[in-house]
Amino acid sequence: MSISIEEIKQKVCAAGKQLLQEGLVARTWGNVSMRVNDHQMVITPSGRKYDELNPDDMVLVDIYTLKFEGKIKPSSELKLHCQVYKTRPHIQAVIHTHQMNASIVAAAQMDVEVLLPEHQQILGGKVIKAAPYALPNTKKITMATEKAIEASNAALMSNHGVVCIGTHLEGAFNVARTLELACELFIASRKKAKA
Ligand SMILES: [Zn+2]
Repeated sequence: MSISIEEIKQKVCAAGKQLLQEGLVARTWGNVSMRVNDHQMVITPSGRKYDELNPDDMVLVDIYTLKFEGKIKPSSELKLHCQVYKTRPHIQAVIHTHQMNASIVAAAQMDVEVLLPEHQQILGGKVIKAAPYALPNTKKITMATEKAIEASNAALMSNHGVVCIGTHLEGAFNVARTLELACELFIASRKKAKA
């Protein structure tokens, strides 16, 4: 590993802006993190506008103690990110979004049936599970969501949003984009079934 913490902060900051540009966090908050090593990650801060972010605003967090460096608070949803890194040593990036189509399915508290083989390949499974509803940022939602990821690369959080994981940052983005398409198809297929 030759990439420095400064470089990781730059990448996470750019990814935060990219989330906004791609419409994956329209209106509401999402967050992005990258693993630094076996016990630390860098995550976007709490309560900042993505288009005003600087790399220095990114927060270095210990994934075991949740302690962070500096005065800027990490995203309030950091527990979920930490849980993913603790349980999945190969995962290097985590994205939490409130993207539209996936949020529609998440509001219905339904699992997503992934219809296309090419989407299944990127998402790592034929079904993306929805974790049962629990209050945001609680141990309950953290554990339920982490469990819902199981063998795939994403999970829905009922009435809330989505978490996507990857062995690199662009991979996690690809999961988020693909999940949007898969959810759009899933919604359309259910409408058709009802018609
Ligand atoms: Zn959220």
